[in-house]
Amino acid sequence: MIELDGSAGEGGGQILRSALVLSMVTGRPFRITRIRANRQKPGLMRQHLVAVQAAARISGARVTGAELGSSELSFVPGEIAGGDYEFAIGTAGSCTLVLQTLALALLHARTPSTIRVTGGTHNDMAPPLQFLQRAYRPLLQRMGAQIDFSLERHGFYPAGGGIALAAVTPCARLQPIELLARGERRAAYAEALVAGIPASVGERELACVREKMGWDDANLRLNVLPGERGPGNAILLTLEHEHVTEVFAGFGAKMLRAEAVAGQALKEARAYIASGAAVGEHLADQLMLPLALAGGGRFTLSTVSTHALTNAEVIARFLPVAFSFERGEWHSTCSVRTTCAPG
Ligand code: ATP
Repeated sequence: MIELDGSAGEGGGQILRSALVLSMVTGRPFRITRIRANRQKPGLMRQHLVAVQAAARISGARVTGAELGSSELSFVPGEIAGGDYEFAIGTAGSCTLVLQTLALALLHARTPSTIRVTGGTHNDMAPPLQFLQRAYRPLLQRMGAQIDFSLERHGFYPAGGGIALAAVTPCARLQPIELLARGERRAAYAEALVAGIPASVGERELACVREKMGWDDANLRLNVLPGERGPGNAILLTLEHEHVTEVFAGFGAKMLRAEAVAGQALKEARAYIASGAAVGEHLADQLMLPLALAGGGRFTLSTVSTHALTNAEVIARFLPVAFSFERGEWHSTCSVRTTCAPG
């Protein structure tokens, strides 16, 4: 039984989600204590609990401690079974984080799967669904894995009610990739989403993007969603390059000015552009598990976050791989290589 300390490093939900994926794929059971100890509301929130319950369902796992607020959990996986699955988070908890956890495991099933999750699709602190479609999916495809994400209905905090889907084709062995350069820029555009709030909020966000990035109106889109899907607001900046597409997001919240929402996305996008790295901070986080499952690979990244360092440690507990981060003047390089035995 692998013992994990959920308060180590970043001390957030990723420790649990990575452990779930790796436990299912390797068949190795784990026990985690002090779950999300470094968060304001520690323990299992709805999103994490649903990830655990869903992981148990797709892998026939035996679980103890799967309760709301629980700070300890044990997970003994069985065999991963493909199929058509539906899960409801019940709050605006992130559908995309649950989908990512399940999809990576279901790649290792014998038959294809579909997963439908209801909850939040555009949440602060989680990838928006378009990030999975545009940034994450193509890189997995280059690694030989086909995971198609779709958005049936937007869901924002606090109401939730969004619906996101993934269709997973089994792929027993992911192929390593090298992603050292982003390549030529092919397109750049912004979308402001508004639901149940004035369209002027989205217009102001797009005006900030026009001013700071100099993008013309053809690349600025306002998407006014049906009012009952709100209240909700997000701005997405998409940068398509020859080898990689990146998506940077800002999320609206009560008392937060439209300019601040756009400012968040712009700050991240500009830091990425200036770094010259192939991938930004979030995509880097999310590439680590697939690369480790592939047993190797390398990419340049704009920022080495505590999140990434913590993830590297969790991964090395399950798989015989080692991550190294070589820091350069403008960006860093992350390499994964196979070692003899899990650390
Ligand atoms: P908590 O942090 O409360 O434990 P959590 O379970 O959501 O919550 P984190 O450990 O913070 O977990 O992980 C969040 C994940 O979402 C990370 O993979 C991170 O890269 C990703 N993420 C966060 N914000 C964005 C964003 N704007 N775009 C893409 N991915 C994001």
